[in-house]
Amino acid sequence: MDFHNLAYWQEKAKNIAIETRLFINGEYSAAADNSVFATIAPAAQQTLAEVARGKKADVDRAVQAARSAFERGDWSQASPAQRKAVLNKFANLMEAHREELALLETLDTGKPIRHSLRDDIPGAARAIRWYAEAIDKVYGEVAPTGGNELAMIVREPIGVIAAVVPWNFPLLLACWKLGPALASGNSVVLKPSEKSPLSALRLAGLAKEAGLPDGVFNVVSGFGHEAGQALARHPDVEVITFTGSTRTGKQLLKDAGDSNMKRVWLEAGGKSANIVFADCPDLQKAVNATAGGIFYNQGQVCIAGTRLLLEESIADRFLDLLKEQAKGWQPGNPLDPNTAMGMLIDNSHADSVHSFIRAGEAHSTLLLDGRKNPWPAAVGPTIFVDVDPASALSQEEIFGPVLVVTRFKTEEQALALANDSRYGLGAAVWTRDLSRAHRISRRLKAGSVFVNNYNDGDMTVPFGGYKQSGNGRDKSLHALEKFTELKTIWIALES
Ligand code: NAD
Repeated sequence: MDFHNLAYWQEKAKNIAIETRLFINGEYSAAADNSVFATIAPAAQQTLAEVARGKKADVDRAVQAARSAFERGDWSQASPAQRKAVLNKFANLMEAHREELALLETLDTGKPIRHSLRDDIPGAARAIRWYAEAIDKVYGEVAPTGGNELAMIVREPIGVIAAVVPWNFPLLLACWKLGPALASGNSVVLKPSEKSPLSALRLAGLAKEAGLPDGVFNVVSGFGHEAGQALARHPDVEVITFTGSTRTGKQLLKDAGDSNMKRVWLEAGGKSANIVFADCPDLQKAVNATAGGIFYNQGQVCIAGTRLLLEESIADRFLDLLKEQAKGWQPGNPLDPNTAMGMLIDNSHADSVHSFIRAGEAHSTLLLDGRKNPWPAAVGPTIFVDVDPASALSQEEIFGPVLVVTRFKTEEQALALANDSRYGLGAAVWTRDLSRAHRISRRLKAGSVFVNNYNDGDMTVPFGGYKQSGNGRDKSLHALEKFTELKTIWIALES
């Protein structure tokens, strides 16, 4: 893959065309009341674009378009093979526009261009393609009834899906939902985060070019308390599929209960534990994966390995190696393809990370302090050691590159520490003892457990959390369950 150089991306950034309008019923348009909001480039610290600020009236229009498309049937009733052809074209177009989409993502979020190009955009296209390829290979069931009846169990599209997504992987997480929702035949209204709306708005144009019928895919940019809430309370939205904070997830459950009892699928926060035993098969590999697990995407990763649990006998050596490894993760210009660490999403989020570090200093040892760097919106690798497991540092989701280290003596203690969280998204275990790896994997309360790696995986495996990390699962065939109704057709046969 050609990552080019800083000058290439700076030049491209000067000339990039930015789509700022809502996309409803196959057309771009301004918000009903013409209002806009600024999306800020965290690296340049300036307004990147004024984007349409969708509100209830716009959501109503988008849901109506989605409903009409669903009832019209040119997508919902199309054969899986037909949907597959269109979605494959959609994925092809995303790949063809990889540089443009990656640049939008990097300008809007401050993430390194290297990662947008290598991970976000190809990953998003892969998600669309994976479900395109899967959908004509999924069969229904015939129940084991007696000979005088036939009972078929079939899956059908549900109707209008609202997808509400965050800013840390804007296009990737949107496509984890769009892939299974669209492949199953539903219509979708996507609301990107107000902090990163640009890639989703551009994506809508590509969907149209690929041949998705008008109204099947709509994008309403706007704020959570306006467009987001209007979707959550809408009586004609059947499913809301959400990735974001646990706090917002709880609000969506209330709004669904207060409106039409729509299904609410939540992918929420995390505080994942990464346990390294003294018999770790490759300490340097564990160090590298630990650094990537907490510093990648500036630590703004739901499944980041935020809590490092080290067996006492190797702790000092591990921390020495980790400090060395952290030198490769210094904040830099996101448009430079050599940059491994970019900006936090905005200055107010940087302030929040700073305040966690300030509060932590009072009772824990700061082994590495990432606060001093030339970028207002960046925090470099930060490591606290010997942290009280009950403290805010250990319990709250900081969502920045702040690693919290605790030492342990026994397997039981490690397991208790790992499970001592209201979250349960991921967990990792490093050991060469196969029995211990199995034993612990089954007892960890987390949706994904990694043995001798951190956060490996692909589209074939589900992703989601236990406890307050959420309820549904993205990725894999299991995600289709979120976007389909299960119907029984019981036929009495004439004898
Ligand atoms: P957030 O909850 O503030 O916002 C997420 C989305 O919800 C945005 O589009 C926002 O506009 C919208 N929203 C906010 N309030 C709303 C409301 N009342 N009604 C409807 N919509 C509303 O989260 P964030 O700060 O954008 O993202 C960071 C969070 O996302 C972290 O907690 C992180 O762990 C989580 N996350 C989870 C996963 C996962 O798969 N489990 C993946 C990535 C991020």
